[in-house]
Amino acid sequence: LYDFDHAIEILRTAKHVVALTGAGISVDSGVPDFRSPGGLWERFDPMEYAHIQAFRANPTKVWAMLRELTGVVKGAAPNAGHFALAELEAMGRLNSVITQNIDGLHERAGSKAVISFHGNGMKFVCLFCDARYDALEVEQRVEASGEFPPKCTRCNHILKPDVVLFGEAIPGDAAAGAHNEAEACDVMLVVGTSATVFPASGLPITARRTGSKVIEVNRMSTPMTDQVAHVSLRGSSTEILPALVAGLRG
Ligand SMILES: [Zn+2]
Repeated sequence: LYDFDHAIEILRTAKHVVALTGAGISVDSGVPDFRSPGGLWERFDPMEYAHIQAFRANPTKVWAMLRELTGVVKGAAPNAGHFALAELEAMGRLNSVITQNIDGLHERAGSKAVISFHGNGMKFVCLFCDARYDALEVEQRVEASGEFPPKCTRCNHILKPDVVLFGEAIPGDAAAGAHNEAEACDVMLVVGTSATVFPASGLPITARRTGSKVIEVNRMSTPMTDQVAHVSLRGSSTEILPALVAGLRG
């Protein structure tokens, strides 16, 4: 309880708050952590199914994995944690969300300032002509025509979900935007991520180095807990984030 009050006190006086989110915030939305036991990367070797070279060499094969990934994303709905971050933004208490997730759930919960570090599985892209498509529209087209994997209507190449595959760079605007936010903030909320995967892992460290308070929200302790976080709130983001909203309103 002391930690919770401490977090409220920090957030109450903050001027620029940024949230960094990871797989943990979407677990209660039915999006499993791809790196967890039984997860996507245990059943599909990422080097064989999720590397950009594999996609370029044999997109039809890689779509076996991508179909499962986009199916999971499509079937998920935002939870109370996503809605709480959208509410903090609407209250003027959160400047942006930087997410490592590709499920698009922050946008669907109403968050406006979202930096998608690893792309968005609700969009498709053509690697040849750069056309972008809404995933649900493409899905309807696939269902109507039976043509799979989906192709670009402009140039007929096989589409790729607009997510960052292994071997691909973080989109430049997202990388720069996230870095700027990490430097500009005075509080960083790190939610549902152990922040061990580079380059997202550098963001809380950058925030702390430039004088920010770091508040961690996680079910478990992480490498960040002792080394980077000023306050660690232990538990589900589905419960803790709405409680923070209530605490800031009270
Ligand atoms: Zn195209």
